[in-house]
Amino acid sequence: MNLHEYQGKDLLSSFGVTVQRGIVAKTISEVISAGKELTNSTGSSWYVVKAQIHAGGRGKGGGVKLAKTSDELEKIAGEILGMQLITPQTPKEGKKVNQVLIAEDVYYKGNSKPSEYYISVLLNRGSGKNMIMYSTEGGMDIEAVAEKTPHLIFTEEVDPALGLQGFQARKIAFNLGLSGAAFKDMVKFVLSLYKAYVGSDASLFEINPVLKTSDDKIVAVDAKVTLDDNGLFRHKEFEAMRDLSEENPVEVEAREVGLNYVDLDGNVGCMVNGAGLAMATMDLIKQAGGEPANFLDVGGTADANRVETAFRLILKDPKVKAILVNIFGGIVRCDRVAQGIVDAYKNLGDSIKVPIIVRLQGTNSDIAKELIDSSGLNVLSATAFQEAADKVQETLL
Ligand code: GDP
Ligand code: MN
Repeated sequence: MNLHEYQGKDLLSSFGVTVQRGIVAKTISEVISAGKELTNSTGSSWYVVKAQIHAGGRGKGGGVKLAKTSDELEKIAGEILGMQLITPQTPKEGKKVNQVLIAEDVYYKGNSKPSEYYISVLLNRGSGKNMIMYSTEGGMDIEAVAEKTPHLIFTEEVDPALGLQGFQARKIAFNLGLSGAAFKDMVKFVLSLYKAYVGSDASLFEINPVLKTSDDKIVAVDAKVTLDDNGLFRHKEFEAMRDLSEENPVEVEAREVGLNYVDLDGNVGCMVNGAGLAMATMDLIKQAGGEPANFLDVGGTADANRVETAFRLILKDPKVKAILVNIFGGIVRCDRVAQGIVDAYKNLGDSIKVPIIVRLQGTNSDIAKELIDSSGLNVLSATAFQEAADKVQETLL
């Protein structure tokens, strides 16, 4: 689950990380009162208006702008609210901005220039350890830094059993070239950031930029946070942060009915029971020259109802040109699933315009095959795994 910047900052703040203060607003009247409230607490009438969408690169796309008066604030927020923001990380048509963060300006406080750093915490699956990635080249596209000047990106691996050690946090502050008060503040910043990452069961905390203000304070100016969905059951309080308008609608619908569905780019819809078999099925489709349109695990209780729901979900994807059903009948009986397919086909009637290839193996598979073959529907049955994939390819030719 991805968070908006303002939610990520709230989370960071609750773990003691210093963040750029801000107030989220959905309407112009909320923008105006947010501006007043900020000025009351900061004493400044300079604000940054930041579009809240689940994508980075907002600055470049015109979704982050500085306002130097309350009139400017109103004008700029009015332009950004409701705009279709296009950044390198959004779909081609961009994303609609439903809310903006009105933040204090942390750049123009004193005479000396602030410095921007990059810091992220993530899991290194290769080493099985957490990893802090950091760079002096903050505020810009980190992918570009990695490509052009990889020696300016540092990593610090953290043993999850030991946690982040003080000497490691000091090493990070040192490598970032800090000294004095900023050094001490960075050590505290990194230790709290790591605590936030572990404490919220996150899979990513990316802060770009981390700012050293002109008065030597270390502040999180941006926050990109991804929480591990598998850890969410431990944090019921996070559920309210989910923004369904940012998520794939078919995936949302699938989750509501308890189906594991992940949307992909290909043209072969898959309906499989068991995550392992689903992965193997996708591999086989690829090997046969096709591309899976989705990952879908209907689970161990693939009854007629679930089969029909699964068909409905798969058919919502206009890219789907064929559907491969690959079910292993262990606890579930194949003839029940076959009956489910035949019923679903009859119920869905005209909406199924693509060929369906069905492979049912396991308990009562012979009865199942008989049911499919004699149904008179546009359903091809296969017994062997490879045969099923080949049949899919033939129908696509
Ligand atoms: P992103 O482009 O989606 O990564 O959004 P960021 O939150 O990183 O903001 C983009 C850029 O806006 C930053 O790199 C800064 O240069 C600028 N910015 C953010 N906050 C402030 C601020 O308080 N004052 C000023 N002047 N610029 C800011
Ligand atoms: Mn950023």
